[in-house]
Amino acid sequence: MQILEDIPLAPFTTLQVGGPARYFAEPASLDEIREALAFAHSKGLPLFVLGGGSNLVVADSGFPGLVLRVQLRGIAEAGNGGFAVASGESWDDFVARSVTHDCAGIECLSGIPGSVGGTPVQNVGAYGQEVSQTITSVEALEIASGSVNTFSNSECGFGYRSSRFNTSECGRWLILRTTFALVAGGAPQLAYRDLQQHFALQSGAPTLGQVRDAVRAIRRSKAMLLVQGDDDCRSAGSFFKNPVLDAAAYAAIQQRAAQRGLTLPAYPSTNAVGHEQYKIPAAWLVEHAGFHKGFTLGRAGISSRHTLAIINRGVGLNSANAAEIVALKDAMQNGVEERWQVRLEPEPVMLGF
Ligand SMILES: Cc1cc2nc3c(=O)[nH]c(=O)nc-3n(C[C@H](O)[C@H](O)[C@H](O)COP(=O)(O)OP(=O)(O)OC[C@H]3O[C@@H](n4cnc5c(N)ncnc54)[C@H](O)[C@@H]3O)c2cc1C
Repeated sequence: MQILEDIPLAPFTTLQVGGPARYFAEPASLDEIREALAFAHSKGLPLFVLGGGSNLVVADSGFPGLVLRVQLRGIAEAGNGGFAVASGESWDDFVARSVTHDCAGIECLSGIPGSVGGTPVQNVGAYGQEVSQTITSVEALEIASGSVNTFSNSECGFGYRSSRFNTSECGRWLILRTTFALVAGGAPQLAYRDLQQHFALQSGAPTLGQVRDAVRAIRRSKAMLLVQGDDDCRSAGSFFKNPVLDAAAYAAIQQRAAQRGLTLPAYPSTNAVGHEQYKIPAAWLVEHAGFHKGFTLGRAGISSRHTLAIINRGVGLNSANAAEIVALKDAMQNGVEERWQVRLEPEPVMLGF
């Protein structure tokens, strides 16, 4: 394994902005990971673990430490829907394989870019499924000590787009392998309205493969599938999480919407201690704060097919820089806060800011 110097990070991210890593390595085994960590410790360097770079904004100044782009490979099948998958595997390739092997549980997560190791970090979710519903354990190496620990599902602290790996212990662990319990021969999940509509005219229940194809088609129509040559998908996916409000905050914002003659959509649920909470669509808040699909600020913009996707409108010499992406993010956050008194929380990881 080579440890390279001053490697541009933009090409390793889907947004394609940002400066270089001072040091960069692609470890493909546990020994190589330990070797790279020893190098970083000896030089007192900060460390960043990179997967597919699909949930990441790198600062124009880059990152002054060592970036490890994890290349661990291997998918082991334990039978009856059990899979143990190394972090460097492509998430969507794994989903495709599970569907081919007639195992249900992650078919609605088709088409999400990035690595398998990146999925437990923010508890990836879409179209009614989250990885936390099928993950049984996560094996991770503690960066400071080099020791390996296996976390059960409940020990991962999964929540909406969160886990212990991006909250209380952010940056502490390098995920090596994740195990999943899928349902062999199980039926696909059709919880989401777009998906139900897709199959409304079909007689008979759709197969896992049909649901995977439908999810990818819907994602493509919203520029949420990485397609070469599609400028609208040069993004980090949805840039903002959907705010989850308590009953009082929800009532207040509902009243503000009513005063403007608007109806705010909301998805009620109950939190861990039994209190009512309401998830409200960040896209609605953004649109009703004056930021429409296709909005442009410098060389950054909002996708013409997805209000929450901030995109890099340029390529090559005309590419946006990270400062332009952040300027648009700030404008959207401030605009929504001014209009709705809710501060949107970004979903991507901001590196080097
Ligand atoms: C077009 C598009 C559509 C998207 N759609 C969705 C969606 O529907 N739902 C959704 O939830 N997300 C979505 N995303 C966001 C993104 O794809 C996911 O968050 C993905 O799981 C990130 O994985 P990654 O390997 O690319 O991680 P990276 O972007 O490389 O890293 C993200 C974070 O994970 C950490 N990380 C990555 N690998 C490891 C590891 N092995 N060990 C420890 N930490 C690690 C990094 O340090 C960083 O903090 C979308 C993104 C794009 C560009």
